[in-house]
Amino acid sequence: MTKTVTLPNGETVPALGQGTWYMGERSTTRATEAKALQRGIDLGLTLIDTAEMYADGGAEEVVGEAITGRRDEVFLVSKVYPHNASRAGVAAACERSLKRMKTDVIDLYLLHWRGNHPLSETVAGFEALQKAGKIRLWGVSNLDTDDMEELLATKGGAACAANQVLYNPSRRGPEFDLFPELRSAHIPVMAYSPIEQARLPRGGALGAVAKKHGVDPFQVALAWVMRSGDVIAIPKASRIEHVEMNAAARDLVLDAEDLAAIDKAFPPPRRKVGLEML
Ligand code: NAP
Repeated sequence: MTKTVTLPNGETVPALGQGTWYMGERSTTRATEAKALQRGIDLGLTLIDTAEMYADGGAEEVVGEAITGRRDEVFLVSKVYPHNASRAGVAAACERSLKRMKTDVIDLYLLHWRGNHPLSETVAGFEALQKAGKIRLWGVSNLDTDDMEELLATKGGAACAANQVLYNPSRRGPEFDLFPELRSAHIPVMAYSPIEQARLPRGGALGAVAKKHGVDPFQVALAWVMRSGDVIAIPKASRIEHVEMNAAARDLVLDAEDLAAIDKAFPPPRRKVGLEML
């Protein structure tokens, strides 16, 4: 089943994409990583998330290899380092990213986290890139409520198309205030580390729900992350069997009993929790 999330411009993207952190670190594994991404594209995991930071550009090169000849099938997301997020810096960083990915446009370009450059400068840099046709949309990552408020009050800031944050059953803090704020601004969430880098407990509630549905506990976690319809999950998998398992999580529908069991084991936040980062 293909689940989608609607972006503020009305465009739809798959609710399940693919991450790339730690891809491209070693030349010996690059071909396998590109093949895993290609298998994901075959299965409809066509949103690919990368960053200039990952393997110092190596992950973007793996993405470039994976999408050769099939750029049109993919919704490409990359991120600029905060120290490159000045008006001129984003232009230069974007150019380097485009070259590494062997493409002429990034679909969604994110500020990786908040740094020292004023948000107004970064937004102006993104707008210039949009005008030049180098990026289609822009967004942010790791911005908590106060930073989001500042962004939305910045000239042009309301055009933000996504906020990518740490979110999985063991990291529910943003449900308290960040998600409601983003929802009221119609800005979708991209959930990173949706299986907590494979460290989520396989037993307990996730294990019990998995057993009931005859699936894997990590598939339960992915279905849970995507349950609201406005959250995009971007698990990273270098192994084809993991890609296939993740893709199958789209078919899992959690019922009220499952959600209650997960709430009991991973209680929703009752007060503000500062946004965590990995
Ligand atoms: P993750 O997706 O939660 O976990 C990745 C790990 O889980 C890898 O070791 C992978 O193994 C393993 N895995 C994947 N599917 C599996 C499955 N079905 N069964 C068992 N193990 C499985 O963690 P992440 O890579 O930190 O987060 C995902 C993506 O979000 C990143 O790759 C990156 O694109 C993005 N991200 C963004 C930020 C940010 O600051 N914006 C921060 C962190 C991550 P194999 O690789 O061996 O298959």
